Parts: sequence; C-alpha cells; structure tokens
Amino acid sequence: PCEACCRELFDPSNRRYRYPFLNCTDCGPRLTIVRGVPYDRERTTMASFLMCEGCRAEYHDASNRRFHAQPNACPDCGPKLTAFDADARKLDVEDSLAVFVQAISGGAIGALKSLGGYHLVCDARNDAAVRELRQRKHRAEQPFAVMVADIEAARRLCHCNEHEARLLLSPARPIVLLRQRQETLVGQEMRLPGPPGPVTDYGDQAHGDQARLMQQIQLSNSVAPGNPDLGVMLPSTPLHHLLLRDLGNIPLVLTSGNRSDEPIACQEEDAFTRLRGIADLFLTHDRPIHVRCDDSVMRIAAAQEMPLRRSRGYAPGSLRLPHPCSRPTLAVGGQLKNTFALAHGVDAVVSHHLGDLTDLLAYQAFERDMQLYEQLFDLRPEVIVHDLHPDYLSTRFARRRAADEGIALLPMQHHHAHMASCMAEHRLSGPVIGVTLDGTGFGTDGAVWGGEFLIGDYNHFTRAGQLRYVRMPGGERAVREPWRMALSHLFDANCSGSAAHLRASTDQLHTAQRLLENGFNSPQTSSAGRLFDAVAALLTGRECVSYEGQAAMELEWLAGRSRESAAYPFELEMNERIVVDTRPVIRSIVADLQRGTERSAIARRFHNSLIDIIAAVCDQLRETHGIAVVVLTGGVFQNVLLVRGVQRRLLRREFVVYTHQTVPANDGGLSLGQLAMAAANG
Ligand code: ZN
Ligand code: ZN
Ligand code: FE
Repeated sequence: PCEACCRELFDPSNRRYRYPFLNCTDCGPRLTIVRGVPYDRERTTMASFLMCEGCRAEYHDASNRRFHAQPNACPDCGPKLTAFDADARKLDVEDSLAVFVQAISGGAIGALKSLGGYHLVCDARNDAAVRELRQRKHRAEQPFAVMVADIEAARRLCHCNEHEARLLLSPARPIVLLRQRQETLVGQEMRLPGPPGPVTDYGDQAHGDQARLMQQIQLSNSVAPGNPDLGVMLPSTPLHHLLLRDLGNIPLVLTSGNRSDEPIACQEEDAFTRLRGIADLFLTHDRPIHVRCDDSVMRIAAAQEMPLRRSRGYAPGSLRLPHPCSRPTLAVGGQLKNTFALAHGVDAVVSHHLGDLTDLLAYQAFERDMQLYEQLFDLRPEVIVHDLHPDYLSTRFARRRAADEGIALLPMQHHHAHMASCMAEHRLSGPVIGVTLDGTGFGTDGAVWGGEFLIGDYNHFTRAGQLRYVRMPGGERAVREPWRMALSHLFDANCSGSAAHLRASTDQLHTAQRLLENGFNSPQTSSAGRLFDAVAALLTGRECVSYEGQAAMELEWLAGRSRESAAYPFELEMNERIVVDTRPVIRSIVADLQRGTERSAIARRFHNSLIDIIAAVCDQLRETHGIAVVVLTGGVFQNVLLVRGVQRRLLRREFVVYTHQTVPANDGGLSLGQLAMAAANG
C-alpha cells in the first residue's frame, strides 16, 4: 500500500478505516489477480465484486486517486476477511482479525492469506511457538523470515544501513537478509565476533545505538538457528499493517504456507488440506489469488543489490536486453528455482519464481502462468530456448510444444546461460571470462559441470577451465548427503584413511567407497557447489542437508568468524584447457584437521584458496586470450564472502568485474541468459 492508502487505513474518519483491501492506482495487487487481457476488472479476480456507488464514482473520476484502479473496493462492496479453525470450520465471529490477533498473541500458529499465497505466522519471540512451527512444517533448520513494523524495529534486531533500509521500504517490499545484532544471538552456540573483514558501513551505528539496545527484542533462537543473518521484511499488504498494529508491533515469523519444499498454498481448499495439522487457525478472504507469487529475497553485498529470489514486487517488470529478439521468443529456464522469460524486441519479461518443477503443483503453475504471460504480453513464441539437459521438465515441455506447434528450438548449455544472464544484465557484448560456479548443470561431455571458466559471448563459448573431475558416489544422493562428496574428494586426494570421522556408518562408507572404485552410479562432476559440500562435511560433520545449499551456507558462516588470511596450495594443469587440481587443498584441510586447527580458520582458508584459484585462472586466461572482463555467476556466488573476495582481488588486478544485480546468480537467472542468446542469434 502507498502512503496515501496507509493514512486512510488508520484514519478513523475515512470510510476505508481499517479496511484490509483498500488500494489505489499507485498500489494494490496486480499480477496475482490477473486472469487475462486487457487488464480491467472483468478479467481480474475482483470481477465478482460489484462496485458500490462511492467506489464507482472514484473509479470513473479522472481526478481521483482511484481512477481506473481495477481492484478498487471498500467495506461496503469489496472482499471480506473470514476466520476458520484448525479443521477448516468457519468461525462465526464479528471480527475475524481480532480472533486471529488474539490467537497469535497467545502463541498459536496461524495461516494468513497474503498477496501471492498463504503465510504461516507466529510470534517470533515465542520460542515454543516457533519450535512447534518447525516441527509441524517439517522444517528443521532452514531460517524463517521475520516481518517487523518499520525500519526502527528492523534495526532493533539487525544492522541495517541506508541502502538496506531503502530496499526494505521499496514498494516491492522484498525480504532483505540483514546481519543480526550480536545481542539477538544470545544463548546460541554460534556467537559471532562481528562481521568479518571490511564490510558495508552501518549507517545506523553513529547515533542512537545505545538507546536501541536498551529496548532489545529477544527473538526465539529457533527463528534462524545458527544463522548470523536474518531475513527481514516490512508489511506488504494493508492486512499486514493491521495485523502488526493490533499485535503491538511485535516481530512475526512469516514463512511460506507449505509443507517442506512444495509451492505455497494460494487457494482456500488447498490451504485447508495442505496446512491442516500445521495451522491452528486460518485468516482468509474472498479475493482469489490467481497467480501464486512468493516473497522476493534480496541481499546487499559490497554496496550492491544481490537478488536471491526475484518474484513478488519485481515480476513481471521488464528488463532491457542488449540485443532485440527479432522473433517472439520464449525461454523456459532450468529445473530448480525455475523462471521462464519472454521477449519480442528489446524488452524482456522474466517470470516470477516457480520453484522446483519436479513438484507437480510447481509444474502446473509453470504451464498455466506461461499461458497467462503470453496473453498479457501478447506474444506467441516462434522460438523456444531450453537447457541442454534432456530430462529437465522444462526441456521436455519445450520439445513437446515445439513439435506440436511447429516452433523452432534452441538448446543452450546451462553454464553458458548463466554467463549470458550476467552479461545481459550489464548489457555487455563480450567476449568475457565467465566464472560460473554452481551446483549442477548438464555439460556438453555428459558430465555434471559446476566449476567452469568459460570464454565467449552470447552465441559461442569455449570451456577454458574447470575444476578437476571427481565422482558423485550414488549420483543425486550425493547432493542430499554431503559426506558422500567428502569421501569422494578424500578418495581422489588419496586421503581415504581420514574418512573415518565422517558422519556415516561403516557400511555406508564401504558401499560408497566401492562405488568410487568401480564408478557405478557415480557420475563425474566438476561442481564447485559439491566441493563446498565436501569441505563442509569435513568441517561440520554434517550427515544430511535439510535444504539445498545448507552445507555451503554453514561453511560461509563458519568462515565469517575467522580473520585468517592464509590459503591452501593448489595446482593448475595446463591441458587443452586449464584443470584446477583441488587435491592439494583437500590434503591441506585434512592436515589442518589432524593438527586441530580452529575449524573457522580452515573454512576461511578454504574460501581464500578459492579466491586464489579464481584469480590465478583469470590471470592465465587474460594472458592467453587477452580478455580482461569477468562475469561472476552461478549459485555459489550468492556466498558474500566469496563474491566480495573475488571481486576485490580481480579489481586489484585491473580486471573489469560484473556480478548479478537484477536477476539471481542461481538458476532463477537462467531464462534471461537464454533469451539474450536467442536475441544475439538474430
Ligand atoms: Zn494506494
Ligand atoms: Zn465500495
Ligand atoms: Fe546452475
């Protein structure tokens, strides 16, 4: 809601006083309520609400703030709140919000219908409630986001500089990852000595710190266990504003309304079934959500915005391509963190986050929302770009549709698309060095790539360097069980003897060892993400991960606690391409472990080693190819310690360095790269 609407919301003399669905031409829902084009009321989920006289007059008055505001409504004619109990029985109460507020302050877990789907809500200070939520949601460790009333409240919990404050306050209202104040971590095992190295200056620290600390809020330790950062957002709907105000502006856990990793619920029936057993009560309303839309997630690193998920508030805003697409083009993205993208001409539209396509609900949304976007932007694709991976559901969809409709297909290698994505954001024409570090991508040799140094532009690339191949014993299982990658790296470095302290049974270790020896069900990988997993498993003894990238994130936090500047040795093998030999790194880590070196120091040294490796390879490539422009892309570059370190080092060596600022470095950015390639293709 805009400022004018917020004022009305809390103005007792206004006819929309405390009305949770007020909006105007400057604010209110858009993407989530659209059913078709042209965008007017009949083709939104507001169609069934007949405007009262007052609303109609505003709607037709060209001088009114609500002139042609399609979702315009008031308490007389618009949507209304309803509360339901845990068994989805409608509560026959006068004031549904009051009932919800009372339950939440009493420690209940509520399901709240927000803009793009349901959130699960509880008092973030109430340890029992937060722990109960984790248990019911089967979400053991993944951090929860917190909603607070204003910037002051955010600063009571976290460090928040001016840039971060601006981002929190922006109309998109994303979740912004902020560094928790040390004091909020009290009682936690992982006490931080403070932010590592030179960091963004905290604009708020100059004054008022003392006063703020006096009114310190204690969050439950279970909100973001062991995590130095906290995802914070401000209210993004009038309903959120009312809820917070009525609850006395306490911090609330607001997490997506789903069980573990499936897409968030956005329809009532769906919420009632899927959130049964999780929510103690539901606060819902009768304005349907047509397009499911997750919260966006942003981080600021080295004074630059770094999107981790670009969704609510950002999609379907358009981005400018470096070259126009001469034909209507559809890019279907990857498989995980999927987004698709459309363009005809220079303006590209990148979709909201659709998630993991192997989930049926996510896949259905992928097909349905794509149809909607094609209508909204009046585009019938004549070219479809897809990932090279034959088994991605997006690839299968592209092939089927191309065959059915006689559309041209354009395959694109995964890491090439990552590189093109970062290039497109900065409108580079190339050639560049694409340092592409991620978890998994299908390589042209059939191996699992993920630690790649590419050289090229939108149309072409050569794989100029890679991390040394090791095996993934058990294939996909090695992603969920990082000890497998640790074993593989130990085996590769001739240190299998040190596998005994990995958290796996002797049987498991034996079986995996046999897989490594005979290569059965153990594809080759150059993945940097898996290397992070391996080192994390060695240092933290983690057996399984409960969410993607967890091991790598823990390694980053661990490293953040050390100011160690040393690094481990490595070697570059100069063959037809540079192969980074990571075995010396692994051996040194094992030696450090045996010596009893502080684990945070080992983690930091590992980060330093990767920075050294990347700098050395880039030096080499500049020498042989004469290219000094580097793009840093792929999900591993969401690691702030790494991305800052590499950036700083390369700048010092007079490279020109680009990182992602508009679309995520992870697979959510692939579709933009795919489009840019099609555009350059003509
Ligand atoms: Zn407004
Ligand atoms: Zn009305
Ligand atoms: Fe990727």
